[in-house]
Amino acid sequence: MSGCIFCRIVAGEIPAEIVAREPEVIAFLDVQPLADGHVLVVPRAHVARVEELAPAAADALFRAVLRLAGPVREALGAAGTTIGVNNGDATGQTIPHVHVHIVPRWEGDGAGSVHTIFPRHVKRKLPEVGAAIRKTLG
Ligand code: 5GP
Ligand code: ZN
Repeated sequence: MSGCIFCRIVAGEIPAEIVAREPEVIAFLDVQPLADGHVLVVPRAHVARVEELAPAAADALFRAVLRLAGPVREALGAAGTTIGVNNGDATGQTIPHVHVHIVPRWEGDGAGSVHTIFPRHVKRKLPEVGAAIRKTLG
C-alpha cells in the first residue's frame, strides 16, 4: 500500500525510531508519544484491521508484543504498560494499518484504564449478547 505511512516506514522510505525488526513485524516509537517509550508494533504486511491478519502474522504480532512489553517497561523505569489497538475507523484508528500501542505507565501518571474510554452505554442483557456472538462464531 504505497499511500500507507506505516507501509512506508516498513519499506524504509520514511524514517522512524525503530526499536525492533523481525521477519514479520517491526516496532518503532510513536512520533507523537502519549508517554516516553510509546511504541507501535506493526505487522510488515498491510492489513487495516486485526480480523484481517493472517494467522501467522497474528502470531508474530502478539509474540512481538510479548517480547517488547517487559523491555519497554524496564527501559523507561515504568510500573506497567497499557497495551491497546484502535481497530476500525469508529474506534479512532487514524492509520489503517494494524498496530499495537505499548504505552509505559506510572502510578499517578494521570491516565486512566481502558475502562475510562467508554461511557458505558449498554442496552442488552449478557445472555442475549453471548448467544448472538456464539451464533455468529458458528
Ligand atoms: P491510531 O490512532 O491509528 O491507533 O494511532 C496511530 C498512531 O500513529 C498515533 O499515535 C500517531 O501519533 C502515530 N503516527 C502517525 N504518523 C506517524 C509517523 O509518521 N511516524 C510515527 N512513528 N508514528 C506516527
Ligand atoms: Zn500499510
